[in-house]
Amino acid sequence: MFKRFLSPEQNEWLQAFEQFSAEEVAPHADEWDLREATPPAVVQKLARNGWLGGLAKPENGGLGFDAVTFGLLNMAIGAGSGSLTGLLNVHSMVLKTIESWGTPEQKRRFLAPLVSGEVIGAFAQTEVAAGGDSGNLSTRFEDAGDDLIVNGQKTWITFAQTAGLFLVFGKFQGLDTAVLVPGDTPGLTVSAKRNMLGFKSAHLAVLDFADCRIPKANIVGKPGFGQSLISSGALDYGRISVAWAALGIQQAALAASARRAGTRSTFGSLLADQGIIRGYLAEMSGSLLASQLLCLSAARAKDARDEDALEQILQAKLFASHEAGAAAAKAVQIHGGHGCDEGNGVSRLYRDAKILQVVEGSNELQKMLIGKAVCNRYLAAELPG
Ligand SMILES: Cc1cc2nc3c(=O)[nH]c(=O)nc-3n(C[C@H](O)[C@H](O)[C@H](O)COP(=O)(O)OP(=O)(O)OC[C@H]3O[C@@H](n4cnc5c(N)ncnc54)[C@H](O)[C@@H]3O)c2cc1C
Repeated sequence: MFKRFLSPEQNEWLQAFEQFSAEEVAPHADEWDLREATPPAVVQKLARNGWLGGLAKPENGGLGFDAVTFGLLNMAIGAGSGSLTGLLNVHSMVLKTIESWGTPEQKRRFLAPLVSGEVIGAFAQTEVAAGGDSGNLSTRFEDAGDDLIVNGQKTWITFAQTAGLFLVFGKFQGLDTAVLVPGDTPGLTVSAKRNMLGFKSAHLAVLDFADCRIPKANIVGKPGFGQSLISSGALDYGRISVAWAALGIQQAALAASARRAGTRSTFGSLLADQGIIRGYLAEMSGSLLASQLLCLSAARAKDARDEDALEQILQAKLFASHEAGAAAAKAVQIHGGHGCDEGNGVSRLYRDAKILQVVEGSNELQKMLIGKAVCNRYLAAELPG
């Protein structure tokens, strides 16, 4: 149903993304999850297809995807592996940040290898004591003439185990600031973070910066831009990625549930012939379509630079990730004990859906921001004139 709202070109991309996911991702995702690792070969294939640099402008070597096409990529890959959408997410955030804010020198050094996928980018904002409350970061960039000295720790950084470039957020002279730190910088230690609830094959890591010296020229934008412009701009794409990945999880949950219900007999009849199970399937498919339309509207608003694009993106992330959690929970229920078995696809969907409600601004944070925008709108409407 949803495909009728896409352009012919977007439908062609979707077909290619879905074929790739069905052949290269979905059949292996449970094994990757159990091993807590995504093989480099699949990352290289994404890179060879140009999809890691999909969002970059053609003049920078990218495919010039619009936000809808980037969303479709996340949806298709998300139906195979939630963890792999983590790569699309953080890598694209770093890439778009440099494309939007980078100096000519930063673009020359860092953009081309990110676009080609030769180097993986990771987004290093969260600290143990400051996640959603990102104004309270304790990572410090100290002035050392032409250089900066970086000290601090970041945690739960997606694809940090394999990243070659980190976009790091902290304070410079008391101002929120973003800097680029190459992965081979002396003093930087990357320690794998294992045993997460979900996104198990997303190569999470803890980063320790101990007197890391980087050129001051690696500051992105200006000191003071870190949260207000750099992080928030990147998170538009991060939230689009999460919202559309949540569509993929809903699709996979619905497909697995419909197949199971159509083949599993209990008490002499198929689950699919039980009203309560049909009701679950009806709710899942309705929520999927509603989520798809909300995500499509948000991505189109982003492409059109609409005034309410941010609010729509927040709504799409909130709604789609919530519905992914609900769909995955129903999928586990329909599968019964099989759904609870380790290595079973639906148990992974259930765990990954929960992650989507926490990352890129927890869903409580989305509600706080949306609620504020709604209040402001109604208050403004009551003003005379
Ligand atoms: C799998 C995974 C991957 C991640 N990848 C990255 C990454 O690549 N880069 C990165 O920088 N970070 C990453 N993170 C971190 C993630 O973004 C943070 O965990 C998230 O922002 C929440 O921050 P927190 O954990 O500090 O929670 P807290 O800020 O401690 O919040 C805890 C809970 O309280 C709620 N809460 C907080 N304040 C309020 C309030 N005022 N009102 C109501 N409720 C409130 C929150 O919504 C949340 O549910 C990742 C996390 C996970 C689990």
